[in-house]
Amino acid sequence: MKFWDEKIETMPINELKEIQYKRLKKIVKMVYEKNEIYHKKFDEAGIKPDDIKTLEDIKKLPFLTKDELRNYYPFGLLCVELDDCIEVHASSGTTGKPVVGVYTKSDIEIWADVMARSLWANGLRKSDVMQNAYGYGLFTGAHGFEKGAQKIGAMVVPTSSGNTKRQITVMKDFGVTAIACTPSYSVYMAEVAEEMGFSPSNDFKLRLGLFGAEAWSDEMRKKIEDMWNITAHEHYGLTEIIGPGVVTECEEKRLHINADHFLAEIIDPKTGETLEEEEEGELVFTTLTKEAFPAIRFRTRDIAGYTEEPCECGRTLPAQTRIKGRSDDMMKVKGVIVFPSQIEEAIMKVEGASGNYQLVKKKEREITTLRVRIEPTEERYKEGNIDELARKIEEEIYAILSLHIPVEVVKPGYLPRSEGKAKRIVEE
Ligand SMILES: [Zn+2]
Repeated sequence: MKFWDEKIETMPINELKEIQYKRLKKIVKMVYEKNEIYHKKFDEAGIKPDDIKTLEDIKKLPFLTKDELRNYYPFGLLCVELDDCIEVHASSGTTGKPVVGVYTKSDIEIWADVMARSLWANGLRKSDVMQNAYGYGLFTGAHGFEKGAQKIGAMVVPTSSGNTKRQITVMKDFGVTAIACTPSYSVYMAEVAEEMGFSPSNDFKLRLGLFGAEAWSDEMRKKIEDMWNITAHEHYGLTEIIGPGVVTECEEKRLHINADHFLAEIIDPKTGETLEEEEEGELVFTTLTKEAFPAIRFRTRDIAGYTEEPCECGRTLPAQTRIKGRSDDMMKVKGVIVFPSQIEEAIMKVEGASGNYQLVKKKEREITTLRVRIEPTEERYKEGNIDELARKIEEEIYAILSLHIPVEVVKPGYLPRSEGKAKRIVEE
C-alpha cells in the first residue's frame, strides 16, 4: 500500500477543491453561529456566511492574527462547549501569552490521521520503532508524532527531549529505526553518540529521521542524512492549525499540504493580497474540519511558495515549498533581505563546517549588521588554517546574497547546544 489514504491523496484537484468549498462553507457558518468574536469580526468586515459562493470568496473573510489568539487567551475562540473537549495544548509563549489549541474527540482523530498520512509517506511502518525525542508536555510536537505512529501501529519510545546520553543508549538497545526530533537536536545527538564511542552512521538500526519545528536548509538535511545514514523528512505544523501534520512530505521530498483539512493561501505579507501560484509569500491557513478551535485565514508569518503542479509520487495534493523562514526572522542587511536559512545553506556547502552556527545581529541607529559564528568539525579544526574555512564560507554567502558578511570560526563545542528548537539568532 503506497498511500495512507489513496482516495484523498490522489484525487483530481478539482474534486479536492469541491470538497474544500463545501467544508469551507460549513466551517464559516459554524464559527459565525457559535463564536461571538468571529461573529463580530465578520460583521465588521461586512460579510455573512452566505456570501461564500465560491472557494475564491475566502478572500472576503478577515484574517486571524497571532495577536488576536493571544488576546482571546485561553478559550475565547472556542466554538464548542469546553465539556466536549478532550485535550489541550499550548505554545511556549516566549514572546507573550501562549497560543492555545483545544481538541474535541473528532479533532484528535483527524490529527492522528493526518500525522499517520505524513509518517506513512515518509516510510514509517508497523514494524518500526520510533524514538520520540520531541518534548512531551504542553507542546503539540511529541503528541502529534505519537498519535500518528501508533495509528500506523509502529512502536513509540517516548524519551521526550533531554538526557542525550540516555537517548543514545535507548536508541541502541531498543533497536530504534526512526527518530523524531528537531534537526538541530539530531546533530547534537550524533556528537554525543561519537563521544560515547559509537559511529552514528554504522552502529544503529536508524533509517528514518522525522524532523520538524525548525526552518532548516536542504544542505543541512544532506548533512544529517550522511551523519546518521538515514533518510530525513521534513514535518511542518502549527499549534494554531492542529500541530504537526499540516503537510505530508513524499519520497520526492515535496511538502504536500493535507488540503482536505487545511486550506492554504499565499499572501503578500505587506498588503495582505493573494499572490499568484509559485510566488513566494506568507502562508495563510484555514482549518476546514476542526471543531473546537477552527482557524479562519490564520496568518502564519512563515514565508513559502505554493504549487498545484502534479508530483512524481502520484499525489495530487497541492504542495508548499520548504519554509524559508518566519517573516519575523527576516532581516534587512545593507538593503538586502536575509533569512537565516540562506546563511545556513551557505555554511553547509563548505566542507569542514559542522551543523553548529550562530548569527550575531547588531542594530545601530536603524542599521542592522550581521556576523556569523561557526564551529568547524573536530577533524577540520585539527587541520588548522581556520582562516581559510572562514573565507570559503564568506564566499558562499556572497554567492547567495551578494553581501559581505564576516564569518568567525570558533572552537568545536563553543556554541550552545539545544535539545529542542535551536536559537540561531543572537542580538548584541
Ligand atoms: Zn509528491
